[in-house]
Amino acid sequence: MTEDLKNPEDLTLPCYALYPQAIVHVDADAFFASVEQAVNPKLKGRPVVCGAERGIVVALSYEAKKYGISRGMLMGQARRLCPGLVIAASDYETYGLFSKRMFEILRRFTPQVEEYSIDEAFADLSGLRRLYRSSYPQIATAIKNTIEKDLGITVSLGLSLTKGLAKLASKHNKPSGLVMLPGRELAAFLKKTTIDKVWGFGKNSTAVLNKYGVHTVFDFITRPHAFAKKLFGKIGSELWRELSGHMVYPVNSREKTTCQSISKFKTFAPPTKDPEFLFGQLLRNLEGALSKLHRYKLSCQRVVITLRSQGFTDNTLEITLSRRCTAALDMVNPVKEHCHGCGSLRSQIRIRSPTQYFRRPRAHD
Ligand SMILES: [Mg+2]
Repeated sequence: MTEDLKNPEDLTLPCYALYPQAIVHVDADAFFASVEQAVNPKLKGRPVVCGAERGIVVALSYEAKKYGISRGMLMGQARRLCPGLVIAASDYETYGLFSKRMFEILRRFTPQVEEYSIDEAFADLSGLRRLYRSSYPQIATAIKNTIEKDLGITVSLGLSLTKGLAKLASKHNKPSGLVMLPGRELAAFLKKTTIDKVWGFGKNSTAVLNKYGVHTVFDFITRPHAFAKKLFGKIGSELWRELSGHMVYPVNSREKTTCQSISKFKTFAPPTKDPEFLFGQLLRNLEGALSKLHRYKLSCQRVVITLRSQGFTDNTLEITLSRRCTAALDMVNPVKEHCHGCGSLRSQIRIRSPTQYFRRPRAHD
């Protein structure tokens, strides 16, 4: 395997003709809200949001998105934007059940399935063409159709040579997209895909790459391998390979049964100082971490909240709950009290004047 692509057109060489490896990424569209619509068909086609129990939008349907509603928004504001809005309480048990069924459908096609998050999975289809007497795109289409028919939700699917490329492809045409990205179409696709779309490149990495004149994924992989390595170390090197079509991250089908800690973090853009909004975001992150906890059938007693300012100073609160919990409702009040009790997370927000925050509640097992 060559380290560098000396000639950009190497991407279209016959060895990349179609699928030397076939990796599929499945991502359910607006998952929580879609499950609500699948369980209650009267809600199909209507704007639906979840999070009634907290008064904050934690998930929303594509119909609701059209009204300018976004995650983390206060319910009152969402209702003002869309008077006919359907507001459902989050039902993690049902979401978990749908998630499990989606992974089971994938396992009917291949045993090599990696459950990446509650609504996302990777599957390795390599070598299955003969078994199914079908091409990889046909198998991928069958997976998509089966999930959509059996579960009544839509999924976006990407098929390509590596996990990184498959994830890029599934994101390309949401909702209900089906994007095939064989080796010979890589160059054309990556030329029109900006670097910020890459799984693993955040805002900062994108800004750095833009400084070096790298704007598209194609710009990135046609730079020498050493360039990626020098800028971002091991991760940069691995991403460079994945995006060039060389598999670095295999599909890991071992079932995860335990975790030391589960975390969820979010960087805000645009920056904000609004304490209400920040508290809403904190609850949303808590929900995210807890949905993972549910998937692994765990409970937790320690919650760590980190608030990071734009100047990269961290402010951390650690809370030990009186008993092991699994539900956000059991945690919201202790978290709220604690935030108020120790100088208040809210007042910290007011005292300091950074313009951007980063928050990370962690639910420790
Ligand atoms: Mg999704």
